[in-house]
Amino acid sequence: MAVSVVRTRANMGLEAPLVTIETHLTNGVPHLTIVGLPEVAVKESKDRVRSALLNSGFEFPLKRITINLAPADLPKEGAQFDLAIAISILVASQQINIPHLSTKEFIGELALTGELRPVRGILPMALACQRESRRLIVPMDNAKEACIVQNLALYGAHDLLSLVQALQTNELMPYQGQALEWTQNSNGDFSEVKGQHFAKRALEIAAAGAHSALLVGPPGCGKSMLASRFASILPPLSQPEQLEVAMISSILRAGRTPQLSRPFRSPHHNASHVAIVGGGAKAKPGEITLAHHGVLFLDELPEFDRRVLESLREPLETGQVHIARANYSHAYPAKFQFLAAMNPCPCGYLSDATRQCRCTPDQIQRYRNKISGPILDRIDVQVDLPAISPSILKTSTDTIESSESVQKRVIAARDTQFARQNCYNSSLSTTQIDQVCSIQPTTQSFFEKAMTTLKLSARSYHRILKLARTIADLDRQAEIEINHLQEAIGYRQLDRLFSKGI
Ligand SMILES: [Zn+2]
Repeated sequence: MAVSVVRTRANMGLEAPLVTIETHLTNGVPHLTIVGLPEVAVKESKDRVRSALLNSGFEFPLKRITINLAPADLPKEGAQFDLAIAISILVASQQINIPHLSTKEFIGELALTGELRPVRGILPMALACQRESRRLIVPMDNAKEACIVQNLALYGAHDLLSLVQALQTNELMPYQGQALEWTQNSNGDFSEVKGQHFAKRALEIAAAGAHSALLVGPPGCGKSMLASRFASILPPLSQPEQLEVAMISSILRAGRTPQLSRPFRSPHHNASHVAIVGGGAKAKPGEITLAHHGVLFLDELPEFDRRVLESLREPLETGQVHIARANYSHAYPAKFQFLAAMNPCPCGYLSDATRQCRCTPDQIQRYRNKISGPILDRIDVQVDLPAISPSILKTSTDTIESSESVQKRVIAARDTQFARQNCYNSSLSTTQIDQVCSIQPTTQSFFEKAMTTLKLSARSYHRILKLARTIADLDRQAEIEINHLQEAIGYRQLDRLFSKGI
């Protein structure tokens, strides 16, 4: 019977549902029809497949060919079905016979010459294939990428002809890849930042409890420099985290060796909503998903479109972003550590003793109002950075600590949190706060007095407790003490400025 069934996969966000390619040949006017919700790129596939088959020395059957991509209701885009379609035509026209065809999945784009080209999103597809214990056959460039999936029967091929010959004679050799290693983010070391000890300490606390942080200071005080080095004090990615990071880069780029360092993303404030949050006509992850398990840094925070800032609320709460359009709906992971920076006023020199601020109180308030409310509520650590004079930089003789040594304390504090409550302090729920942030009555009365004197909002109460918990963890103390609370309150001072004006 002139029918064949070949297995392959489609891409849907980070999912890779199975697609079967059914090919049926009948006598009649030679014509090829592809059915089953194919996008334009898949329809173009018939021309590529025809040329690739002919140029590889096979025949293109002069028959009526119907190709069905099932399930029919799943949208299919991209050229990744080429290889499976070609194999399916070869099997249906009985030009070749592949033993155990149902245990194999084929993914790859064909060049007109029959060469195999890498496709995007190979890692989600490789993982899905591994879970179903099938063998995966991909272009060689994709094999280099997919080999990080463990216990996967993976085969790489350079072109259609050599692949078919090897399949028929059972001589296809499994791909022998090298295990990839975690690499340190190369954005620089903490020791390169001179001065700003208060800010460095604040960032260490933010890293230790996975708290989000806002750096406020005049231009040139080192905000971006500190932020770009933040990833270097975070612990190395765990293996499941590495795989998730590699999967995200895999759906954006084809055939590249995945980078396994902790991501640091710093989109410009002019970037579009789609570029930052994700979406578009063809679903793509945005910057917030590219920052998954890493750092999202928004410099000049008030300059960002308000719609973008509002969109950060969902990922900051849930670690995910849902993108729904007319023809698709995807959930992308977006569990990032949020860092932001801004000037204290529109001209930037409000807190700079050496320069005159030219802004009116009204302008300053309007500037700050751009980020007040929901986003400010989700920022645990607020740091006011002073201006730094060039002479201090030259003459500074402080002992400067390396990222590696700060990272050790961060790892220890994170381990303490996971041993105690199995989550970061920043993710503690109100009930959990009551359990793990218990304080002595004298400390409690100090805290209440400070809240009243400093006119801190009730909203701040839980944030301060969580932050104090992290500071106590860094200090290796089981109980939160007055000095921990004092320091935590110090990181909420901007609340008052933002809510009451200057
Ligand atoms: Zn100003």
